[in-house]
Amino acid sequence: MENSKLKIGIYELTGCAGDALLILDCEKELIDIFNAADIQSFVMAKSDNIEGDLDIALVEGSVTTEKEIEELKDIRQRSKIVVAIGLCATVGGIQARFLDPKEWNERFKKVYGNIEMTHTKPVQSKPIDAYIDVDFYLPGCPIGKEQFLIFFTRILKGNPPEKSQNPVCVTCKYNENDCLLKKGILCLGPLTEDGCGAICINHNLPCAGCWGPLKTGNRTSEYYLLKEKGFDVEHIKKKMANYSGTKIASFLKELEKEKK
Ligand code: SF4
Ligand code: SF4
Repeated sequence: MENSKLKIGIYELTGCAGDALLILDCEKELIDIFNAADIQSFVMAKSDNIEGDLDIALVEGSVTTEKEIEELKDIRQRSKIVVAIGLCATVGGIQARFLDPKEWNERFKKVYGNIEMTHTKPVQSKPIDAYIDVDFYLPGCPIGKEQFLIFFTRILKGNPPEKSQNPVCVTCKYNENDCLLKKGILCLGPLTEDGCGAICINHNLPCAGCWGPLKTGNRTSEYYLLKEKGFDVEHIKKKMANYSGTKIASFLKELEKEKK
């Protein structure tokens, strides 16, 4: 009998492997996940991996070597749908926050010295859409379990995943939290994509932005608000850059121009 299950591959580039671990951590649902789809490749979960044509490829991690660029292009070429999962794949990760190539080179040398890389050449960290077309994005550092299971169920049924258009503040307000920003605490909720359930603020901690930047977030407004509240400019910039990867480059450039 012909196998009618969707062929899926789960791949990891550079990152902490937290998203792959999160999938494995769906303990109660894991057998159902493996039964519902034909998981052809998932290095963290199985050893009999096949690198053939796929219906869906889930890619975690940022691109940091020339070898990974080739791997990624090969995945794209073999897959009908490519989904970026986790912060590193969607925006480049914390490792992408050094936006100035000179600064990146200096830091690279500081860590590795003048070591000659023989197996591959390192490149500055970038999200996967810097090299290939991406169909869907699942943000988060790491992605959330509920978010993954909803996404997986929808895509198996042929429905595109729903993308949140709201900032974390919306869920924060639904949860009736007192606004930390109003209390003078640096919270990045207004700039961050919703989806985590505002978990940090529910525990009285400010949002650090780990779900990644919201496309419609008003950085300029938040920047001036925080400045008005007396936060140091460098501190604001670093906080904003932490989980924004390469997607904050143009905003920071504008700020630099303003300084001159
Ligand atoms: S606490 Fe943070 S996430 Fe909640 S409403 Fe205020 S700024 Fe938004
Ligand atoms: S840092 Fe922000 S986006 Fe990340 S889990 Fe906490 S509240 Fe959610």
